[in-house]
Amino acid sequence: MTRALNFNAGPAALPEAVLQEAQKHLLNFNGTGMSVMELSHRSKDYDEVHNGARNQLRKLLTIPDDYEILFLQGGASLQFSMIPMNLLTEGKVAHYVLTGSWSEKALKEAKKHGTTSILASTKDENYRSIPSLRVEPFNKNDAYIHITSNNTIYGTEWKSYPDVSVPLIADMSSDILSKKLNVEQFGLIYAGAQKNLGPSGVTVVIMKKDLIQTPAENLPTMLSYETYSKNNSLYNTPPTLAIYLLKLVLDWVEREGGVEAMENRNNEKGKILYNVIDESNGFYSGHATHDSRSNMNVTFTLPSEEKTKEFLSLAKEKGFVGLNGHRSVGGCRASIYNAVPVDHVVQLAEFMKSFQRRL
Ligand SMILES: *Cc1c(COP(=O)(O)O)cnc(C)c1O
Repeated sequence: MTRALNFNAGPAALPEAVLQEAQKHLLNFNGTGMSVMELSHRSKDYDEVHNGARNQLRKLLTIPDDYEILFLQGGASLQFSMIPMNLLTEGKVAHYVLTGSWSEKALKEAKKHGTTSILASTKDENYRSIPSLRVEPFNKNDAYIHITSNNTIYGTEWKSYPDVSVPLIADMSSDILSKKLNVEQFGLIYAGAQKNLGPSGVTVVIMKKDLIQTPAENLPTMLSYETYSKNNSLYNTPPTLAIYLLKLVLDWVEREGGVEAMENRNNEKGKILYNVIDESNGFYSGHATHDSRSNMNVTFTLPSEEKTKEFLSLAKEKGFVGLNGHRSVGGCRASIYNAVPVDHVVQLAEFMKSFQRRL
C-alpha cells in the first residue's frame, strides 16, 4: 500500500511512524490487554500518557514553570470565546490584529463579551501580508493583544512577534512546533491539534499562570481555565485517544531532532515550493508577499481559473491530495506541516514544473 501525497490543510498528514506505532498497540496498550481508548482516564497507564504528553511538550518548547499546559476540547474555535470570557473583564479592552478569517472569527466572539479594538488589519489587500505593529504605550485597561501566528487560509506567517507590555495571545493552530519559539513573549498560546500536533479532538493551551483567575460566578465550569488548571485537565473525561496520539507525535518530533530540526526541514520544504513559484516567470503567482510567506501553507494561483482547474484535476489524477485553495481565496494551497515528508514536497515541485512545461 502506498501512502497518499497528502497536502490537506487540516486535519492533515500525520507521521507514518506514529500511525504504525498506534496500530501496533491498538489492541494491547502497555500490556493491559486493552486499547488506550478503553482505559479509565483515572488509571495509572493513562496518567503516564497524559502527563507524558504534557512533559514532552514542555521539553520541546522549553516552556517555563510559570506556564500551565492545558488540554481542552472544542477546537481553536472554542478558544475564540474562552479567551474573552476569562480575560476580557469589565472595563478592559482587548486588541485584535486581523490577518485573515480566523482572526476575524476570534474578534467576532470577543465582541460578544466586552470591548474590543482592531489594532491593525491587512483586510484591504486580501490578507496578503502581516502588518507591522506600532508598539504603542499601552495602558492598564488593556486586557490582551490577540494575533494569529500563521494564517492557514491566506498562507501568511508572522516572522517575529511584537514585544509588548500587554499579554500577547496567539492562535498558533497551524504553526506551533514548526519553528523555535520563545514562549515567554506570550501570555497565552493555543492550538487545535489537527494541523501540526496530532488528530482533531484536543486543543492545547499554554498559559501564564498569573493569567488564570478565579472566574466570574456565572462562567460555566467547563469554560473556565481555572477548572483545567486545578484538575490537570482531568475535571471531566479528556479526549484520551487524541492525547495519546499527541504524545506519539511529540515523541516523534523529539526523535527527529526536536523543534530546531523541524524548523530546518520546514525552511527547506518552503524554499522548494516558493522557488518553483518565483522561477515560473509569473505562471504561478504566490498570494502572500515575500516577507510574509508561510512555511506551512503555500498559496498560489495560475494565470486563469481554467488553468487552475486543469492543474488541480491533473494533480488529483497523479495522486496529490488537498491542493484546492480554501473557498474564500480560491486558487491552490499546499499545506506542508511537520509531518509532510520532504520527498512529497519535491514530487509536488516536479509536478508543478512539468505542468508548466507541458503548456
Ligand atoms: C484550523 C484553524 C482554526 C480552527 O480550528 P478548529 O479546531 O477547527 O476550531 C483556528 N485557527 C487557525 C489558525 C486554524 O488554522
